[in-house]
Amino acid sequence: SPVLVWFRDDHRLADNPALAAAASTGSQVLCFAVVDDGSDGLRPLGGAARWWLHGSLRALGEALERAGSRLILFRGPALSAVENVALETGASAIFWNRRYSAVEIALDSAIKKRLTDRGIKAYSFNGRLLHEPWEIPNQAGKPFQVFTPYLRAVMARAVAAPLPAPKKLMGGTWPSSLLDAAVPSEELGLEPSSPDWAGGIRKHWQPGEQAARARFKRFLREGIKGYAENRDWPSIPGTSGLSPHLRFGEIAPRQIWHAMTAQVAHEPGLGRDAEKYLSEIVWRDFSYQLLHFHPHLTARSHSSRFDNFPWIEDAKTLKAWQKGRTGYPVVDAGMRQLWQTGWMRNRVRMIAASFLIKHLLTDWRRGEAWFWDTLVDADAANNAFGWQWVAGSGPDSSPFHRIFNPVTQGEKFDPRGDYIRTFVPELSGLPSTFIHKPWEAPPDILFAAGIRLDETYPGPIVPHGPARERALEAFRGLRGMA
Ligand code: FAD
Repeated sequence: SPVLVWFRDDHRLADNPALAAAASTGSQVLCFAVVDDGSDGLRPLGGAARWWLHGSLRALGEALERAGSRLILFRGPALSAVENVALETGASAIFWNRRYSAVEIALDSAIKKRLTDRGIKAYSFNGRLLHEPWEIPNQAGKPFQVFTPYLRAVMARAVAAPLPAPKKLMGGTWPSSLLDAAVPSEELGLEPSSPDWAGGIRKHWQPGEQAARARFKRFLREGIKGYAENRDWPSIPGTSGLSPHLRFGEIAPRQIWHAMTAQVAHEPGLGRDAEKYLSEIVWRDFSYQLLHFHPHLTARSHSSRFDNFPWIEDAKTLKAWQKGRTGYPVVDAGMRQLWQTGWMRNRVRMIAASFLIKHLLTDWRRGEAWFWDTLVDADAANNAFGWQWVAGSGPDSSPFHRIFNPVTQGEKFDPRGDYIRTFVPELSGLPSTFIHKPWEAPPDILFAAGIRLDETYPGPIVPHGPARERALEAFRGLRGMA
């Protein structure tokens, strides 16, 4: 009888432990995925991530066909869909790579039990992380709460070598009952129809394992040198851009780890940049570890002190932030880049998030939800952790009183204004001196640049100094209550 591989955000053939184990059984390997909008408690994917998923599944299907198998897609809920596949194919076993949020674990346990009761074996693997959340405890045997000692503990451990892609898969025949129930990827409603807002995203990204590998190779060749500095400069293509590929498992962190380490052995001068890069990959593991042990991280502030924060609900300012019309060029460039391309750099994510939370006193969950809908790399662990880190409410986070000044951040990391000119073109005629603070430009300079403040481009939605004071005051009030 055949064996099954259930793909879930591990859309690759290389270093895919579930696929490798299934292939090694010597049985026919039937591969499938379930687009699950129906299981209780699972958060539906946002629009940009759905777009990515569509391309990712298509690329995976093509790669599996090249290897001798194919990918069949079903609609959720997963419990009934997987059970149906297992029973109708008469499979002896199912293989998958593990997921780590509480809801996903509960779902997978329920499926495993249902299948085991029917005599079908379920095998699961780590295909997503360098180390699973429970593998790196602190000296007291508890999960780490703070990144730096966690990083030290990770650095002291070996990372398992990546597995090669199976050379050839023995694909089997799917019963016609299941082929009838299968859904072609175009009918899953993953791609936007009208309006088609994905044009900019399509131009910037190519989902799939091959594209992930090509991007990583290019980064090793051209990007890693100088990464530690360049990563903060949004106008320099100084980061790997692998986040959506990692999110959908088109490349695995173990592959990155070993390739990067091998590169450093070749080019010892890369040491500092490579260390910094690998530490970012460890941040990803760390946020998964936090989400695993603190499942509420996506839904509420980890520090309960923030439950009393006097957030302001203001649909108008929220919209101005979402659309990139706050009057602060670096915030607006970031939010427009996000809307157009589904992505932005970490530095700009921090500036934009800080602005929403601290200048506009908007609940970080509103921002988290917007990012969830618009990021191609929207990831439950990294997104919630990123937002709570900026808010100061997370287990390990930047203190609330560290409030980014959007003008000086822009001047520091985009001194010539190149990033602004790309994403806020109406300011492109301004000289660098004023490009991060157009309201300070004299009228003749504004006129020459074709800018009418509050018309072509908004004046600042809140003045920086008083907004900063207001945020600090709100936070002090919280302390008084604690
Ligand atoms: P690189 O600098 O090339 O880093 C390589 C990889 O390391 C990334 O692809 C990512 O997987 C991981 N990584 C890098 N920085 C971080 C970090 N700070 N935390 C965790 N992992 C990291 N990342 C997401 O993948 N999905 C999200 O939904 C997400 N939301 C965020 C929200 C906020 C408010 C903030 C401040 C950060 C968020 N991040 C998120 C983290 C980070 O900004 C992105 O991972 C990074 O910008 C992706 O670009 P890159 O692949 O070029 O990164």
